[in-house]
Amino acid sequence: MTPYVSIIIPVYNEEGNLGNLMGRLYPVMQGMAKPFEIIFADDGSRDRSLAMLTEMAATYPEVRVIEFNGNFGQHMAIMAAFEVSRGEIMITLDADLQNPPEEIPKLVAKVEKGHDVVGSIRQKRQDTFFRKTASLMVNIATRKMTGMKMSDYGCMLRAYHRNVVENINRCQEASTFIPALAQTFASSPSEVEVAHAERMEGESKYSLYKLLRLNFDLMTGFSVVPLQLFALFGILTALASVAFAIFLFIRRFIVGAEVEGVFTLFAILFFFIGITIFGIGIVGEYVGRIYQEVRRRPRYVVRKIHGAADER
Ligand code: UDP
Ligand code: MG
Repeated sequence: MTPYVSIIIPVYNEEGNLGNLMGRLYPVMQGMAKPFEIIFADDGSRDRSLAMLTEMAATYPEVRVIEFNGNFGQHMAIMAAFEVSRGEIMITLDADLQNPPEEIPKLVAKVEKGHDVVGSIRQKRQDTFFRKTASLMVNIATRKMTGMKMSDYGCMLRAYHRNVVENINRCQEASTFIPALAQTFASSPSEVEVAHAERMEGESKYSLYKLLRLNFDLMTGFSVVPLQLFALFGILTALASVAFAIFLFIRRFIVGAEVEGVFTLFAILFFFIGITIFGIGIVGEYVGRIYQEVRRRPRYVVRKIHGAADER
């Protein structure tokens, strides 16, 4: 029977959470009384996660597990699951139970009302102060730069209609940010408020570096505004320098030669060198993305798909 709802869960070293997750998710799905499938994408876990998942795939007919060859990141794991998903409505959620499975029927109902992308806003978000502030800034910057109207890009408890997912599947970019990608294909996006919990077990799989990388992908993957802003800033600085040079030139005739203020000059110089390096960095981000795209290497490698009579 073709599933109506596909649940998609990326997993990276979540052995402490999988049991609880399944214990809460499965009854919710059964309660909906519609055919469903649960696709776990194991993103190269090095703990017992994969063993636990394959066991689930053998026990539950609805469970399939995509086994990756290594760690390709949360968004690639979801992309791989999208490709094999068969449902009419796809739901993504995290494995650490920060997104309560009990909210799924609410999202499904919203899609059934005709919204093709349903985002979520985390009520009383349970994360560190640092994460919340950083996330707030990223959300504002992303809204400004991409012009997309979305309140909370970071929350992964989301629902997508099959049409949107099929368009996502046609995108072959090497690094991406799924909520933003989906938003570009949405014709009638909507949002609901969902509860948010602290991570049950283990710790966040995002180091500061990974988090930065992800946000660069979001900024440079969906907009060229950073480049344009930088060009604009360059033009303004050049104009200001010309005005300053004229000022110094005239002043030379009025007050004569001056050599004071060497350190002020250094400070100004360092400031501008900093800005220049930053600008090169931004350009580098785009060049790096272009390089990744032209290489056309596989974005992820699936070793095996478990469950549903072990296809492939
Ligand atoms: N995840 C993944 N690959 C990674 C990092 C994370 O599949 O390289 C999964 C992880 O197992 C979890 C989800 O993505 O299901 C969100 O990760 P996490 O909870 O660590 O992120 P946070 O909540 O701290 O943003
Ligand atoms: Mg989490």
